[in-house]
Amino acid sequence: MAHSSILLGAHMSIAGGVHTAVERGTSIGCTALQLFVKNNNQWSGKPITDEAAVTYKEVLAKSTIQAPVMAHATYLINLCAKNKIFLKKSRAAFKDELDRCEKLGVAYLNVHPGSHMDQGMETGIKLIAESLNLVHDQTNGYTTLSVLEATAGQGSAVGYTFEHLRGIIDLVEKKNRMAVCIDTCHIFAAGYDIKTEEGYLKTFKEFDEIVGFDRLVAFHVNDSKKGLGSRVDRHEHIGNGEIGLEGFRLLMNDIRFAHIPKILETPKSEDLHEDVENMKVLEGLMTKKKS
Ligand code: MN
Ligand code: MN
Ligand code: ZN
Repeated sequence: MAHSSILLGAHMSIAGGVHTAVERGTSIGCTALQLFVKNNNQWSGKPITDEAAVTYKEVLAKSTIQAPVMAHATYLINLCAKNKIFLKKSRAAFKDELDRCEKLGVAYLNVHPGSHMDQGMETGIKLIAESLNLVHDQTNGYTTLSVLEATAGQGSAVGYTFEHLRGIIDLVEKKNRMAVCIDTCHIFAAGYDIKTEEGYLKTFKEFDEIVGFDRLVAFHVNDSKKGLGSRVDRHEHIGNGEIGLEGFRLLMNDIRFAHIPKILETPKSEDLHEDVENMKVLEGLMTKKKS
């Protein structure tokens, strides 16, 4: 079972209702949790009823979850889409997800910043910030934070350098609505070498200087199937990928991040045994000394 002091968990399915994600997490002792707040591959979904929100909150209150819950926005959203109709649709979908989070009391809505297509990085960054400004204006007073996930840099993805993330935040008006999530697989694939102590320390020094630890609200803890700088986003079980156990040992023992929720997004089956194993591996790294 999880140490009560470690905020560790996984992304859980909401098949059967949003509260079932909490139940799944609790069944394996998660203290942190990520979920979708609607069907992940559709633009729109049934609204969350008052009853469903109450059930979710009741189940959460009695659960093992200790960290603020994070939602992951649908992958369809592109906040810097080139096509104007698609851009409008993305903004509306992001607003709808913020509504859902606010209704459930979900603290964080994690989103991939976007893909600029052939518009260039600078235009992409500007459009993403413009999208966030529009949506934040439509959701005044909401407590759910918009969380930019660091990306692997596949295709024309924005957000694979800390400078991109900072660039977006710099252009967002309501900065108190902004936070950042680091996906270990993504930043490694993007070229940040967190597998060695030297690279790990350099990476987080840069992150702190460019983005700031005060914006960091979560880690996605995934190993990477692909190599350093490959710019390919393929998650692997902890220790079986190109990052390897040493990188995760550094992260799990880093006192600066002890209070930051760490969430697995690794391949899994319905009985969740892979999550159990990955959590066990990560917890084990905290007690065993380097041999
Ligand atoms: Mn993601
Ligand atoms: Mn991720
Ligand atoms: Zn990924």
